[in-house]
Amino acid sequence: MFNANDIFLSVIIPAFNEEKRVRDNTRAVEQKCDAMRLNYEIILVNDGSVDSTLSRMQECAGSRIKVLSYEKNRGKGFAVRHGMLHAAGRYRLFMDADLSTSLDAMDKFLEAMRQDDYDMIIGDRKSRPGDHTVKQPWHRRFLGKGFIVLSRWCVGKKIKDFTCGFKMFNRKAADIIFKKQQILNWAFDTDLIAIALIHDLRIGEIPVTWNHHHDSAVRPMRNVFTSLAGLLKIKWNILQGVYR
Ligand code: UDP
Ligand code: MG
Repeated sequence: MFNANDIFLSVIIPAFNEEKRVRDNTRAVEQKCDAMRLNYEIILVNDGSVDSTLSRMQECAGSRIKVLSYEKNRGKGFAVRHGMLHAAGRYRLFMDADLSTSLDAMDKFLEAMRQDDYDMIIGDRKSRPGDHTVKQPWHRRFLGKGFIVLSRWCVGKKIKDFTCGFKMFNRKAADIIFKKQQILNWAFDTDLIAIALIHDLRIGEIPVTWNHHHDSAVRPMRNVFTSLAGLLKIKWNILQGVYR
């Protein structure tokens, strides 16, 4: 049944200092993919962790679970791109190592990819106020709101949720977007969306159930400036035709 040349779904998981959860969470994704009965690969990308993340990943490695690793911490955007450029799946999904997004979304995303003919689907954490999710702290919501406003100005479209760590691409979209990607730090999600829009790719937005984890690697104040610089760079790139 397993044919490496005809992988249906690639799941890319970037990880920086995730020794506490990467093994168990990879197992959970593996079980989910097994239950979905599809031909898949899971690509774990160790983004220069300084803890035992790489060893924990290697304990999971197998025919379906691949481990990519490099020494220096280069940022989530770099890790995702690295995984995507090594992926073979007809559909390619990246998700956070803390599994903030409920894995039920995998079925919904694949279904929508096929039924609605999307090239890319963005998880949307905003459209489900009734769900029993753990709320983000106020300062993250505040900075998040500012990021959305600026990102909408950047790409010229009212995307609901730019930064959700759960996005799926078909092969065509992944090939275009990750070869053109310029931003590797915290504004990278907006970069991916800007490229998709410029190439007239069909973007879907699907609500997901999200749980905020307190031990996040995001240090809001320190990253505000890098994010802002990233967004300005994206606007500049759009105006200069860099993504064409
Ligand atoms: N991550 C990464 N490189 C980094 C920082 C984060 O690969 O330099 C990964 C991290 O391990 C996780 C994902 O990116 O899988 C999202 O990080 P985190 O959960 O800390 O972000 P948040 O949920 O707070 O946005
Ligand atoms: Mg997280």
